[in-house]
Amino acid sequence: HAKKNLGQNFLVDIGAIKGIVAAADIQPGDQVIEIGPGIGSLTEQLLLAGAKVLAYEVDKDLPDILHNELPQTVDNQPLTDRFKLVMKDVLKANFKEDTAGFLDLNKPVKIVANLPYYITTPIIFDLINSDLKFVSLTLMMQKEVAERLVAHPKTKAYGPLTIAVQSRMKVKLAEEVKSSSFMPRPKVDSAVVVLTPLSDKYNIEDEKFFNHVVKVCFSQRRKTLSNNLKTFIKDKDKREKLITDLGFDLHVRPEELTINDFITLAKALKKLS
Ligand code: SAM
Repeated sequence: HAKKNLGQNFLVDIGAIKGIVAAADIQPGDQVIEIGPGIGSLTEQLLLAGAKVLAYEVDKDLPDILHNELPQTVDNQPLTDRFKLVMKDVLKANFKEDTAGFLDLNKPVKIVANLPYYITTPIIFDLINSDLKFVSLTLMMQKEVAERLVAHPKTKAYGPLTIAVQSRMKVKLAEEVKSSSFMPRPKVDSAVVVLTPLSDKYNIEDEKFFNHVVKVCFSQRRKTLSNNLKTFIKDKDKREKLITDLGFDLHVRPEELTINDFITLAKALKKLS
């Protein structure tokens, strides 16, 4: 029985499962951290593709099922050499301790998951903020969140989540997955997104303040930037001067600004404070 409160929607479509493995570009010898192996459908394909997998799970009913579902040996190695289950909330993970003696964190690690959707964004931020040196995050999530992650300026999906993630990671939509690929069927469609560290990093001096500025600018997304900036600058003339000084149109709306525009804006606002 799937537990709704744990976000349990198990993948039953082998094409979709293989799609995740392909999106993560799993090669023999790859070190993988999986979140929520469930009954092991994705885990098994990761192992068959040659990966060594450490998985976080919270449902105490699953270890027995998992060990029945997974093969006893993989590539002539006992399963214990290739798979380790850590019964722990991934949001409380201590990657160094949890992987000790199994994965080598000095070498590349890939994160792969069909996420429990009730904690999609906290998991993404925990992973981005962790000191794990991962090469990629390949994550199945609700399509609506995926659309926000890959969004471009001047679209409805573009907003604080887009900017918080795209200012730090390269984001690619790998595939869309129908709700009928899961058991039980979730209420929404899903998508697989691949996040990789940016090779050309943005220069954000104060990340906390930057994220705050972005949030405030989008607090009334249909109003102009000037309107939203009232929180920072009460005086209308001063506000408009700042906006034109930065080279923006006076009536620009928050969703028209690029990441670089927000970086410039945050720097200017910080000088004023
Ligand atoms: N990987 C399986 C599949 O694709 O069929 C299951 C995916 S299911 C969407 C999400 C899994 O995450 C469930 O097995 C659930 O028990 C587990 N889970 C839920 N909350 C978790 C948490 N905080 N930490 C780790 N795993 C969690």
